[in-house]
Amino acid sequence: GSEVDVDPGVEIDEENAEDDLLGGLQIDSTDDIEVPDRLVDQVIGQDEARDIIIKAAKQRRHVMMIGSPGTGKSMLAKAMSQLLPQEDLQDVLVYHNPDDGNAPKVRTVPAGKGEQIIDAHKEEARKRNQMRSILMWIIIAIVIGYALLTANILLGILAAGIIWLIFRYTSRGTDAMVPNMIVDNGDQRQAPFEDATGAHAGALLGDVRHDPFQSGGMETPSHDRVEPGSIHKSNKGVLFVDEINTLDIRTQQKLMTAIQEGEFAITGQSERSSGAMVQTEPVPCDFVMIAAGNLDAMENMHPALRNRVKGYGYEVYMDDTIEDTPEMRRKYARFVAQEVERDGRLPHFTDDAVEELILEAKRRSGRKNHLTLHFRSLGGLVRVAGDIARAEDREHTTRDDVLQAKQRSRSIEQQLADDYIERRKDYELQVTEEAVEGRVNGLAVMGEDSGIMLPVMAEIAPAQGGGQVIATGKLQEMAEESVQNVSAIIKKFSDVDLSEKDIHIQFVQAGQQGVDGDSASITVATAVISALEDIPIDQSVAMTGSLSVRGDVLPVGGVTHKIEAAAKAGCDTVIIPKANEQDVMIEDEYEEMVEIIPCSNISEVLDVALEGEPKKDSLVDRLKQITGTALDRQQAV
Ligand code: ADP
Repeated sequence: GSEVDVDPGVEIDEENAEDDLLGGLQIDSTDDIEVPDRLVDQVIGQDEARDIIIKAAKQRRHVMMIGSPGTGKSMLAKAMSQLLPQEDLQDVLVYHNPDDGNAPKVRTVPAGKGEQIIDAHKEEARKRNQMRSILMWIIIAIVIGYALLTANILLGILAAGIIWLIFRYTSRGTDAMVPNMIVDNGDQRQAPFEDATGAHAGALLGDVRHDPFQSGGMETPSHDRVEPGSIHKSNKGVLFVDEINTLDIRTQQKLMTAIQEGEFAITGQSERSSGAMVQTEPVPCDFVMIAAGNLDAMENMHPALRNRVKGYGYEVYMDDTIEDTPEMRRKYARFVAQEVERDGRLPHFTDDAVEELILEAKRRSGRKNHLTLHFRSLGGLVRVAGDIARAEDREHTTRDDVLQAKQRSRSIEQQLADDYIERRKDYELQVTEEAVEGRVNGLAVMGEDSGIMLPVMAEIAPAQGGGQVIATGKLQEMAEESVQNVSAIIKKFSDVDLSEKDIHIQFVQAGQQGVDGDSASITVATAVISALEDIPIDQSVAMTGSLSVRGDVLPVGGVTHKIEAAAKAGCDTVIIPKANEQDVMIEDEYEEMVEIIPCSNISEVLDVALEGEPKKDSLVDRLKQITGTALDRQQAV
């Protein structure tokens, strides 16, 4: 999708495009935006992956796509199937083998031909059956006629019945003549696309059904029980396998054989079924494979299969975010139009509803001047918002609907975090009015997109032996690291010998799963210094940031979510790393609730967080002298 096509009459305001959330797109609603026909033109971002797909389609090469879920891997695989030539499509028929009932024959014919063959066979079988029943009725008539003549009616009826049964149960034999079309491309307008994600062996490689009767005239002929696998259905098309590493190793091995040979015989996959006795002639499976997964998937993939893809194809990494440009925003507007049309029932979005979505895409990127490429969840938001408008029978989906949808489509982590905050409010564990020594409101991220406030407490006690850092829970390692980083600074300004002290650090109520403490080192440092120097901390302040040994505040992830969590918890000041200043994309409602103070050095953090002059001022002054460049100089000596 190079550019966004709009209906004639709709213009792009190039002059103001830079500042406009819609990139200068002059639309009333997404109804004005034209959606490209080809899927490959609908793909937004992922330029490298797109180019590779186009190239690989021309050369019929396999592709390995690694990246986050919902960034367009299966969409690109489907797009590739639209690019493959459809002339080569084939139908596959399985025939009864009169020499060996358990080794059905396989024939491949051009697409559309299969149906004609089946029809011809059916017609022949029908004629044969007709002849048989005529024959049967003639014999019955003769028998009954003879019985009437000899006045032996009972015997006559009995004989007729037996004849009828014999004909009835031998008629199966004629069905055996009709082949079983396992791959039917007669109506196929494009090369097939098969998604074999999570498929079990039978679904992937084909199977032969069990026959409970097996003999006695009731059995289903073996060729009729043959079922194709995704590898066969995707012949001449695309086989997409996401989470490739979840296929068991034996199946991966067979998949590799299939790729090498271009054909693969079908046999019953379950060993104790009668289907396991059946094995067809090889069935064509000349597909292009698109294997996908996250980085993990690549490591756990069968090495030979990986090499196969690598040696005969391409590997590509999917992007998570893309630079925010006017052109890109116009494409995001088109994304909304695409999703609305794909769903078919949602009302189109007004211009300001689209703007709100683009804002959300900015926010979710968590990166300065970028938009998120996690389209599946963004698409989910479009659908929820559209559903709200549809439920009220409105013509358009509005900005309000998008805002409501955001509230509704909170992730599990977000719901958990909100619930957690609610519950903590009950216990009054949140913000208190007065200043407290050794207690800091830290901030963490749960899951991907949920901030949470996580108070940290530090207590200093004389050591029993050598001084230790003692932390509760799983955050021990992180606590030790933070204390280590801050100890270089403490040594410089304090008489206290840390090696003679035990530092207890408690992460209040941090038993929570998924809480990432990685970015809490300024929090721990602040708590320790406060406890050490007996200077209280303002409890209306929350903070996040990583600390270097020199006292620099380093950037962290998820600042937007963290700030929002602090605001929700009732803080009025949030300290963030200066380097994260551009990543802040909080929603309007929070902007008035909190003041954000970017800091680049621990002395600035303490200046904001500590209370109680003059003790505090002298501490901050001392710190200013020894941290940052001053510390550099000292260390250089
Ligand atoms: P993946 O296979 O990477 O998990 P999908 O391709 O299934 O993700 O994406 C899910 C949906 O999200 C797609 O059907 C499409 O509607 C939308 N989508 C994903 N990536 C893109 C993209 N790059 N451009 C446009 N839409 C996308």
